Amino acid sequence: MSENLHSIDRASRTQVLIVGAGPAGLACAIALKKERPEAEIVVLDKAPGLGNHNLSGAVLEPASVHRLLDSALPGWRETDQAKEVLARTVQKDDVLFLPGASGALQLHPLIKLAGLLGLGPGQMDHKGDYIVSISRLTRWLGQIAEELGVEVHTGFAVEALVPGEGEAVAAGVRLVDRGLTKEGEKQPNFAPGETIRADLVVLAEGCDGLVTERFVQQAGLEREAVQLYSIGVKEVVAVSEEQYRQFGDDRVVHALGYPIWTPVLGPGMFGGGLMYACGDNKIAVGMIVGLDWQENDFNPQDALVHFKNHSFVRRFIEGGKVVEAGAKMIPEGGLRAVPRDPQTGTFGKGNVLLVGDAAGFVNMLKIKGLHNALDSGRLAGEAIAGSMDEPGQAARKYTAALEQSGLVAEMGRARNYRQTIARFGNLLGLPLSVLSGVLPRFEVEPDFKAMRPRHYRFKGNREFDKDTFTAMAQTEHREDQPSHLRIVDPGICLEKCLKTFKAPCITFCPAGVYEEIQGVVKPANASNCLHCKTCQRKCPFDNIRWVVPEGGGGPRYKQS
Ligand code: SF4
Ligand code: SF4
Repeated sequence: MSENLHSIDRASRTQVLIVGAGPAGLACAIALKKERPEAEIVVLDKAPGLGNHNLSGAVLEPASVHRLLDSALPGWRETDQAKEVLARTVQKDDVLFLPGASGALQLHPLIKLAGLLGLGPGQMDHKGDYIVSISRLTRWLGQIAEELGVEVHTGFAVEALVPGEGEAVAAGVRLVDRGLTKEGEKQPNFAPGETIRADLVVLAEGCDGLVTERFVQQAGLEREAVQLYSIGVKEVVAVSEEQYRQFGDDRVVHALGYPIWTPVLGPGMFGGGLMYACGDNKIAVGMIVGLDWQENDFNPQDALVHFKNHSFVRRFIEGGKVVEAGAKMIPEGGLRAVPRDPQTGTFGKGNVLLVGDAAGFVNMLKIKGLHNALDSGRLAGEAIAGSMDEPGQAARKYTAALEQSGLVAEMGRARNYRQTIARFGNLLGLPLSVLSGVLPRFEVEPDFKAMRPRHYRFKGNREFDKDTFTAMAQTEHREDQPSHLRIVDPGICLEKCLKTFKAPCITFCPAGVYEEIQGVVKPANASNCLHCKTCQRKCPFDNIRWVVPEGGGGPRYKQS
């Protein structure tokens, strides 16, 4: 992996350019190299190192990684990295309902029953899945890609696609300028964003990718339904040997209810807590919350603290030490929220392909998307291998492969799931969602419109400190660069938001980036940003724009 600014000069033209070195982008590179060893492939990522911007639960369906590596890397199962990264599989799979600060009802038998009856929630069964650190998985896939001859460059942020002609929709990408001051003036080391030309471009940026969203608009791709998001906040906690033994090395817990949903009394948010065994006496503890929450003073990290203090959770982590923390958005809208070309129905257009979370291939009925990231990346790689002589056909071939693969069918069975709950709330929506696959389509509003002047009932714990959280993500940016967080109209903050909602960005941003200084709301601590992009999707007046900072900044996840 190269972090040398100048080494990319060699690659100012390539055959295939992949934006994003996450599981989907790397799976694409590996599958393509396997089919076409001679192909020139460049993968770019804005993170300082491989896996640094990858944060997730994560449980991984084994078949997806087996399908990728069985043909590309014979003997991979015997490698030390495979044994380390895929060391644990789920044997104990709890799905709980937490009615309050203590007590837990086991729902897993109902999940099993739903599975036997062929009902949607039956998909929420994780037994036999790998429990992985997505950051480690990414590092490993990156090494495999490099060994196969792929050029993987971290620390390079892509600004936009370079427009092409006809079916070659993109001619390459343009990188972000480096070496500007806060005021936008050129420093002595200024380097203008280089253009890298490519025959084919794969967008694998992850959730709410800026290049992807711009491409969707410019290429006229359409979503049947607006994308809905959640934020996940997570800590990796080092616990005692005894606590880890009691929890179990092969266990995952998903918990609905307290502290984000207590029926009748409220709150009524979508999501829940999670606990995953990480090995080495560490347990990941997290909270995922749908961004359509209503309470203007809600902070997902407060909910995580309440979850950690729940009697079921506390006994496993009490006295433990947080060794890593982070936050990330998840695209939850399902198949109807995946952008497609209205003319051809393709997931991408011409020579530009959308894969993984950048497309939105997350199945919230399974609470999983990593298998689809690997599968969509692999299928994109295989489709490109068959399109090197006719790049404009790549999106068609890729879409046909996705449809034949079962990925689209799986996503189809979960369609409407998140929309049903967004529309009807948890109490009615969860039971109704059993039928979501056959319900007619209906409209839901984007998340930012959900906010009301309403208080979060369980607020009040003071144990949480955003500075410590941010330090545990090891996030940093070069200070003297233009802010990558822009408030579109400061007047809206002053005239509308402070009066109605008391500037919720100050509360919900997990990194404490926003502050009110002398009555003006500013992204005062932009260098603490975790790149979760929640502010861009949850500001109640849609008044924040996240632009791409210089490459090499942001969090440095290693265990998440
Ligand atoms: Fe409110 Fe958005 Fe302004 Fe923050 S940026 S004060 S959330 S309008
Ligand atoms: Fe996330 Fe926005 Fe805060 Fe950055 S500033 S950590 S993108 S909410």
